[in-house]
Amino acid sequence: MATPGPRILLVEDEASIAEPFAKLLTREGFETTVARTAAEALELARQTDPHLVLLDLMLPDGDGRDVARALRVDSDLPIIMVTARGTESDRIVGLELGADDYVVKPFSGAEVIARIRAVLRRTQREEPGATTVRIEDLVVDLSARIATLGGAELELSKKEFDLLAELVRHAGTVVKREDLMSRVWDENWFGSTKTLDVHMGWLRRKLGDDPADPRYVHTVRGVGFRFAAPEEGSP
Ligand code: CA
Repeated sequence: MATPGPRILLVEDEASIAEPFAKLLTREGFETTVARTAAEALELARQTDPHLVLLDLMLPDGDGRDVARALRVDSDLPIIMVTARGTESDRIVGLELGADDYVVKPFSGAEVIARIRAVLRRTQREEPGATTVRIEDLVVDLSARIATLGGAELELSKKEFDLLAELVRHAGTVVKREDLMSRVWDENWFGSTKTLDVHMGWLRRKLGDDPADPRYVHTVRGVGFRFAAPEEGSP
């Protein structure tokens, strides 16, 4: 099976643009999700944890700039803004919000794909070694899927590693229980989240973490979990 490509969230309400463009993205090797409203964009961004968002400015239930603002509250997720207007002031507003690039409709698919690849290359290059996270004695190599604690490799099941990876990718910030459920278990979990607690228990044990006085995994009651930030544990 081919390695899954970068995840792209395409936020576009016009089906005549979204459908052919989503097909093109998929053909080019991207894992593509389409959102048709601002509300859907925020929900799907949370669920799919995309590598890049292609964001239409004018949405039926709101303004793409508000979506960009909301997405950027706690992440530096790459965003390419799309607008039909392309006036200078829109361009400036888009870039002021921290959008990484800007395209004007009507656009050619090939052009936007080239821009997407350029932004992904740039954002990856800015974080060398981003695939390896070091927190105290713990080293997690996200691409090789290996975790070591004090130099000794941890024996983790697939789900335990996925859970650890999701937590360390967001080290220092709270990851909500429902987000862990949807990202690690690929589903919305409306019922019991016992599975999550069971796996978290196993992971904590392997990390040598005492839930009453944790070094790595902190419980945020009623919300989720926060993994210690890299600089946090040093005395
Ligand atoms: Ca639109």
